[in-house]
Amino acid sequence: MKSLPYFCRGEVIRGFGRGSKELGIPTANFPDCVVEHLPADIGTGIYYGWACVGNGDVHKMVMSIGWNPYYKNTKKSMETHVIHKFKEDFYGETLSVVMVGYIRPERSYDSLEALIAAINGDIAEAKVQLERPEHVKLRSDNFFTSHSSSSSSSAASSSSSSSSSSSQTIINGH
Ligand code: ADP
Ligand code: MG
Repeated sequence: MKSLPYFCRGEVIRGFGRGSKELGIPTANFPDCVVEHLPADIGTGIYYGWACVGNGDVHKMVMSIGWNPYYKNTKKSMETHVIHKFKEDFYGETLSVVMVGYIRPERSYDSLEALIAAINGDIAEAKVQLERPEHVKLRSDNFFTSHSSSSSSSAASSSSSSSSSSSQTIINGH
């Protein structure tokens, strides 16, 4: 996928209460304006990368890009599970992510157990992939350090290389 790594950030909004937290796998949702900026070659499926909440630490993440049932599956949704145990929810905070690689397509599961097993497999895969030196580098990209919490609520940018100047190409999400 030529658009990877793909950098974007936006406010964490409420999802549709599909109970991901109850499964032990909460997913932070991005607003439509972030999703609408996704390049065409980033299709639905499961991705791995790095994520940071507000000005906090950068953690590994897995992201699901899927069809949003709220819009009768005509719009995509982007849901990020940050591989870190947070003390509290962070609705309203800015989530910054870099999508680094693709794991697998979306699919449906016969049981909750099968779904949870698949997600845990994705998390394990993300942890391994992100240890590769070219991926570890992205963790300290300027994109994560140059963010000021007073900036606009969403922005997106992409970079075809892991250049540290990615933050210069941020465009306003509106
Ligand atoms: P919603 O349907 O509102 O997205 P979820 O059950 O998916 O609800 O929970 C998502 C929320 O949980 C996030 O918006 C965030 O505030 C919180 N949260 C806590 N820990 C995490 C985490 N490790 N990764 C993602 N979100 C988390
Ligand atoms: Mg969610």
